[in-house]
Amino acid sequence: MRQKLIAGNWKMNGSRSFNANWVKGFNEAMSQCVTQSQAAVMVCVPSPYLSQMSDLLKGSQLALGAQDVSAFDKGAYTGEVSLSMLEDLGAQAVIIGHSERRAYHAENDAMVAKKVKATISSSLMPIVCLGETQEQRLAGQTQSVIATQLKAVMDVLDPDFERLVVAYEPVWAIGTGLTASPEQAQEVHAFIREQLSQKTRHANALKILYGGSMNAQNASSLLSQPDVDGGLIGGASLVTQDFVKIILAAGI
Ligand code: PEP
Repeated sequence: MRQKLIAGNWKMNGSRSFNANWVKGFNEAMSQCVTQSQAAVMVCVPSPYLSQMSDLLKGSQLALGAQDVSAFDKGAYTGEVSLSMLEDLGAQAVIIGHSERRAYHAENDAMVAKKVKATISSSLMPIVCLGETQEQRLAGQTQSVIATQLKAVMDVLDPDFERLVVAYEPVWAIGTGLTASPEQAQEVHAFIREQLSQKTRHANALKILYGGSMNAQNASSLLSQPDVDGGLIGGASLVTQDFVKIILAAGI
């Protein structure tokens, strides 16, 4: 039985005062819950706020993640943030290959693979995002797109590596209010697991998250699918009440 993981992706949102209020609101909302969720919970924040969030989350069950990392160790890479810096700031995970980075920062499969490879030799958990565009889905290319994106990652994967998390994030569902149906998500998740089983010994234990307009209303039907092991939540993770409802939906 895989423990579910609910990970918030704040994207480029937050401020020192927003972050402090968010943690306060989150703790209050969690303490008011009658039932406790069994899910692991994480929040991925902009890098400048990792240190503050790490302090705010001391003693809490909430894990901390970053949203991107450099593929390089150190040196003349202006503006980049390294894995050791993320570790130093308290991050336990990092999102890699989010579709917004692929679309706006020209990240391709080769760059994503380099980042995954570097992360594997750190203490961080890589959360690798994959997903097709609307045009690709309509053209019947969903599986081939996912297989290509995943192959680049699997090529650098040690078959014994156990910390990999994959997030299926159909590009057409991110921030649009459109969501994959539970059946559409399950079909792709099962495909991803089958592909993973060709390389890793842990395909049945690895988590595959769904991301794309998951919210308090649709979370439980998506999370009840057998291969949906949690969610990567953008917009709804900024609103603590909604985020907590999603966490509760994962625990039942
Ligand atoms: C995301 O950014 O990973 C995401 C899934 O966003 P949203 O939930 O807002 O669609």
